[in-house]
Amino acid sequence: MTSQAGNVNTIKNGNRSLIFRYIRKAPISRAEISKQSGMSKSAVTMITNALIEEGQLCEIGQSDSACGRKPILLDIVADYRYAGGIALHRKQTGVYITDLKSNIVAFCSIRTERFDTPIQVLDWACNMLLKLAEEKQIPREKLIGVGISAPGPVDYKEGVILTPPNFEMFHHIPVAEYVEKKLGLPVMVDNNAVLLAMQEYILLTKQSLNAMVIIVSDGIGSAIITRGKVYRGHSGYAGEIGHTSIDLEGIPCECGNQGCLEQYVSMKALKARFEFDSYERLVDNAYIGDRTSLEVIDFIAKCLSAAMVNAINFFDLDRVILCGDFAYRNELLLQKIRQRVGGMSIIGRVHEVEVAFSTLPPEKSNASVTAAILGAYFNHMLD
Ligand SMILES: [Zn+2]
Repeated sequence: MTSQAGNVNTIKNGNRSLIFRYIRKAPISRAEISKQSGMSKSAVTMITNALIEEGQLCEIGQSDSACGRKPILLDIVADYRYAGGIALHRKQTGVYITDLKSNIVAFCSIRTERFDTPIQVLDWACNMLLKLAEEKQIPREKLIGVGISAPGPVDYKEGVILTPPNFEMFHHIPVAEYVEKKLGLPVMVDNNAVLLAMQEYILLTKQSLNAMVIIVSDGIGSAIITRGKVYRGHSGYAGEIGHTSIDLEGIPCECGNQGCLEQYVSMKALKARFEFDSYERLVDNAYIGDRTSLEVIDFIAKCLSAAMVNAINFFDLDRVILCGDFAYRNELLLQKIRQRVGGMSIIGRVHEVEVAFSTLPPEKSNASVTAAILGAYFNHMLD
């Protein structure tokens, strides 16, 4: 096993880690941490004062509490440490450096097709990461490690990319081991849907403990959070909603199943089936009432809802978050999905199930590449 959280120099003390859990979402007062965490006010004061002395926390402004003495808010000192990130994707390879608040401080990307071998891609990424760190005058000892994201399935324990479709170049490549040796830093690899789910969970104030994140692009990736933890299943590959069948007699899939969701509503499948080039143009046409375009949106809503309802019923989810290629002007699609999910899910009769597109700003979404390594640093691993 090459890439483990244990390699990262983490916030080991449980109470310190708990305090960071609240502060990472938004600046917060000592009193509010005490109230929300159940820790005594004196313990919160003692620990946060020590963290301020160490330079990890700072006091900022004042909160907007309506009356009485306005408490000082605590915030993370963002540049106390930095995390590196390498986003391996089918079209683009991106290199990121984020601070402790998941702000991107440096970024560079290149078209993946420019390389012939995975080693060339990784060498470029490692060299670029060092170059960016140097440009930003970030010393090596301030880098806590490197997060790598890739399309699933990924063996996150061994740091190996397995067999994501349309990504043959990286099949069975032990990326963590290679980057770890090359950079001498701890490395964690996970699939992009899991990392986005972590990022959503950690950064959003309005959040759910039982959610599914679905990313649609040329493939379909998803991740499940149950009771605040990433649900990994027996071997770490849980969440393959793209390979759940929505038609028993449907299109055969490489996985051996028939009628897999991915065969219908991945962007690649949709373009082949309905013969369009630009999804954005199709959506624009749907908004001005073009019948054919509306039928495509209906088809997407119908297929996605069927798979979503299965997931909602299996896991008793209260939130499904969509990301990826359908984000463009998504109100129409969302309305159609919500109508269907609302009427089809038995769980929906018990409690509200929110279906929404990710509201993370693009830069925070992209910064999810470092979510696992930051999670390890703060001892906030979701599993
Ligand atoms: Zn399949």
